[in-house]
Amino acid sequence: MKANDTITQIDRQTYCIEEDGGTVYGYLLCGARRAVLIDTGFGGLDYRSVAGQLTALPVFVINTHGHLDHISCNWQFETVYLHPADEAVYQEHCSYDVRRDFMTNLLREAAVPEEQWLLSPFKERIEKRCAIPMAAWRPLTDGERLELGGRELEVIHTPGHTPGSICVLDCANRRLFSGDTVCAQGILLNLKHCGSVETFARSIRRLSAQGDRYDSIWPAHHQKPIGKDYLHDYEMCAQKILESRPGGNEAALRVEAASWGRVQVVYTTDNVWDRTGCEP
Ligand SMILES: [Zn+2]
Repeated sequence: MKANDTITQIDRQTYCIEEDGGTVYGYLLCGARRAVLIDTGFGGLDYRSVAGQLTALPVFVINTHGHLDHISCNWQFETVYLHPADEAVYQEHCSYDVRRDFMTNLLREAAVPEEQWLLSPFKERIEKRCAIPMAAWRPLTDGERLELGGRELEVIHTPGHTPGSICVLDCANRRLFSGDTVCAQGILLNLKHCGSVETFARSIRRLSAQGDRYDSIWPAHHQKPIGKDYLHDYEMCAQKILESRPGGNEAALRVEAASWGRVQVVYTTDNVWDRTGCEP
């Protein structure tokens, strides 16, 4: 582990693994029989050995979605679950070129001079992260229950950020692990493969409708945990966009952002409403 990787114990059988000073979180949930790792990060942290330090149980993986900052240590585990609607996203984000572009943009945003990141060992680290091998995965379905041994998880399909985004409900402990679907700062619906604002709004309403089943939300980024009241902000924010664009999707693609309360929804103007025949 690097100095800025952190493990936080949430309860006796639950851990949060923070990679790179909290850039992204993975969660380890242990039952009596086996443990699950919800997301495997960016590739800068050895999740296999971290999980091995925390539990002697066999560990399998659930990906909340197929983006590269959630899947990069999948290859270290035998069993990986992903919603099949994210197959295309996953395949792209396992590819060298996509990872390389992503890392390059990230470094640009961080204002790291190019000559600096081309230097070894920085470059070596990037190359290593970009060359993550593809891992085989098994499909998950909405409503599917996974038993850890005295601890049951339930999958809630929440398309929007990606078509196959899911949230994982830790039933007995009343926690919702939300991936990128519900974070403190906002949701990105402007990336390739993202669902419409209408699709996202429907997913948020589904989570709200089941709000009596959990007390806290544990996202993959930013503040953690967050309260269920964030769902209200997201619902209102999505509603605001839908009301401002009743005419449908604009042919001209523009990225826009709407805010409500504490959250922001970033979307493209050609992808506000579901397209006919493309219901999630
Ligand atoms: Zn994502």
